[in-house]
Amino acid sequence: MEKTLILIKPNAIQRGIMGDIITRFERKGLRVVGLKMMFLDDEILKEHYAHLVERPFYPYLKASMQVGPVVACCLEGAEVVDTVRLMVGATNSRKALPGTIRGDFSMSGEQNVVHASDSPENALIEIKRFFRDEELFDYESAVTQFEYGGEESLKFK
Ligand code: UDP
Ligand code: MG
Repeated sequence: MEKTLILIKPNAIQRGIMGDIITRFERKGLRVVGLKMMFLDDEILKEHYAHLVERPFYPYLKASMQVGPVVACCLEGAEVVDTVRLMVGATNSRKALPGTIRGDFSMSGEQNVVHASDSPENALIEIKRFFRDEELFDYESAVTQFEYGGEESLKFK
């Protein structure tokens, strides 16, 4: 099944809401297949935010991502990239709909608690950036038949 990459940002860890964020994904029925805490150095951040390094706010973004560790999380599910982006909400948390993670947990366009891959192509690249193969787990779930219909299980396996 499709996978996506989440980073729980240092601001969420400082505020003590990393568990709440992971719980949202678990409750939705997404499977955690990789999870680790790590510090992001200049190099990995530059690569991860390559589309933003020339923007005037990049130094602030970089500093905010290096005040402490992040939690990197790989989630699996049918069409998980799109589903997770919907759950995360708009980049500017003040415009993010209530019910989304940013809409419920943040007031900021920068300190917006979580990163999520924005396309299946980028998800593959980002998962490789943050996880080695042996840090990802392929395991049986006893409840898959209650999470997806029979036709979906075939289509999204
Ligand atoms: N960001 C910011 N100011 C902006 C746009 C983005 O500080 O005007 C930060 C914010 O933390 C955002 C990250 O840069 O989550 C990456 O930006 P992107 O446009 O990729 O948004 P995302 O995919 O995180 O919604
Ligand atoms: Mg982005």
